[in-house]
Order: sequence, then C-alpha cells, then structure tokens
Amino acid sequence: MSDPYPYNGRISRWEEVAPGLVIVGVESLDPPFAFEPGQYATLGLMGSEGKLIQRPMSISSSADDLSEYEFFIRLVEGGAFTNLLWERKVGDPINIKGPKGRFLLQDDGRAALFVASGTGLAPFMSMLDTLRDRGQERQVVLLHGVSHEHDLAWRDELEALEREGFPIRYVGTISRPQQNPSWRGLTGRVETIVESQLDEHALTPETATLYLCGNPEMIVAVDESAQARGFDAEQVRKELYWPKGRTHGVAVGAGAAVTDAEDDDEADEEAEP
Ligand SMILES: Cc1cc2nc3c(=O)[nH]c(=O)nc-3n(C[C@H](O)[C@H](O)[C@H](O)COP(=O)(O)OP(=O)(O)OC[C@H]3O[C@@H](n4cnc5c(N)ncnc54)[C@H](O)[C@@H]3O)c2cc1C
Repeated sequence: MSDPYPYNGRISRWEEVAPGLVIVGVESLDPPFAFEPGQYATLGLMGSEGKLIQRPMSISSSADDLSEYEFFIRLVEGGAFTNLLWERKVGDPINIKGPKGRFLLQDDGRAALFVASGTGLAPFMSMLDTLRDRGQERQVVLLHGVSHEHDLAWRDELEALEREGFPIRYVGTISRPQQNPSWRGLTGRVETIVESQLDEHALTPETATLYLCGNPEMIVAVDESAQARGFDAEQVRKELYWPKGRTHGVAVGAGAAVTDAEDDDEADEEAEP
C-alpha cells in the first residue's frame, strides 16, 4: 500500500491579503529544489477520500532563496485543493514537488510587458525579486488587474521598487470601481488597458516581449491584440491558470464567475499518494 502520509513540506507562513486571498510560505523538509523564476511547484494535500489532491502553483519568491517557497493563492468556491488548504494552519504538513514549467524571462534584451490577472502576479514577483537579488535590471512594465483595490498584493513593494529607481512601471487596475470609491487609478479588466499601455510606453514588436499570466479570457484577448499589432508568437509568452472552457467556480472574495477546464493535466492534477 502506498504511503498514506506523503508530506515532505510544512506550511511556514500564512498572510491574508484580502478575504480568500493569501500569501503562503512552504518550507521543504527534503533538500530544497532549485528553480527558475517563473516556474511553478505542485502542492498536495490529502483529501477526505484518501487521495492526494495536487495543484500547480506559481512560485512568487526569489529563486535565490530556497529556505521557503512562497505562493499567492486564491480560494475558489467549491475548489477541491484550495478548500483543503484553507482548513490548514502554519506548521501543518503539505506535499511539494517541483520545479515545473517553461514560463521564463527570456534572455532577449527586450523590454518586458508583464500582464497579470489576480494571482497571476506570482511568477512576476519571483522574476522581479530574483533580478533584484542578483543586482540585475530589466526594463519592465507590470500591469496587474484585480476586482478590488485590496486584491493588489505587493502594491506597496512594487511602488517602492519604482521609486528606488528600478526600471519598472507598475500599473494596477480594478474592475469593480463602484465598490472601491476611494480608488483613483485605472479601472476595467487588465486586458482593456493593454493597448493604451503599449502605446504609452512605446512597446512594439521590435522592442518588447509580452508575458501573460492568469485567467484564460485575459490571455486570449491580449494574445489576439498583440498578434494584430504584429507581435510574433515567440514574443507573447503565456501561463494559463486554467483552460478556457465550461463554466465553473467563483473566486471567493472576487465575486466573479469564471470558466473551467476541459482536459488540462496541469490545472487539474489529482494523484494517488
Ligand atoms: C501553471 C499553473 C500555475 C498556477 N498558479 C496558481 C497560483 O499561483 N495561484 C493560484 O491561486 N492558482 C494558481 N493556479 C490555479 C491552481 O492550480 C488551481 O486551479 C486553483 O487553485 C483551483 O484549485 P481547486 O482545487 O481549489 O479548484 P478545482 O476544484 O480544481 O477547480 C478548478 C477550477 O476553478 C476555477 N479556478 C481556478 N483558479 C481560479 C481562480 N484563481 N479564480 C477563480 N476561479 C479559479 C477554474 O474554473 C478551474 O478550472 C495555477 C494553475 C496553473 C496551471
């Protein structure tokens, strides 16, 4: 019989950003694995039926600090893994495997446009933290789209990075301004501001590579407008958190209906322990 307790990590940190939205730290109890910024790990928890429920999660921390892997996770209503995770506390065991994925910062000397929806900010935080840890710079425009102002995780840190002179332009946009009356920034889903931001920052197929991470509707929309502007497929790097398809859950706290997977082995990993 397989090991009923296949845990090789422990939850080391739990920081609530907003209702249903957390930054989670995981320490490896095995020798930690190295990773490239932009890659993900698979986190696993034992479900009630004795099955290890596993989901891919982008690592948000620096690739130069393996003492703790950091993740930025949204609770999904009815979601198998995230509901198990929300029952856990700091110190509890968890399974972690990695690294995986090819969503990497390209060594192409181009400016980077990072477009993140919701928790799709995670890999970009890892890229930026790693660049900073290594004393490297990169021309970056980072667009982060969320429902509510309080979902703009790391906003203070990103604004500070900009003030410190790192060549980043950070732009947050919220899709529910009527529920955030004090918000003075851009409004609308992140895909609706991409064209104007490309123009504002003079990002063209000759000068820039686009990196898109998060929900499929955003990625499809931005990919289409980038292609229409003449960006090659190679210049539009994509990390979909779930495939475009049938209607499914609601992100708790975001209040937005989303669509569900068809047959994605990454987004829906469930394995016997
Ligand atoms: C490469 C990769 C990296 C990922 N990184 C992250 C990450 O850093 N943080 C993170 O929170 N999630 C991330 N995900 C999504 C994650 O793997 C799970 O799909 C998500 O946590 C839901 O799992 P669940 O078991 O709770 O829901 P399930 O029972 O598996 O239901 C999954 C369905 O819930 C919906 N869903 C998934 N995520 C969301 C969401 N954020 N908001 C609204 N609806 C959603 C989709 O319809 C999806 O098909 C990533 C996915 C991939 C493929």
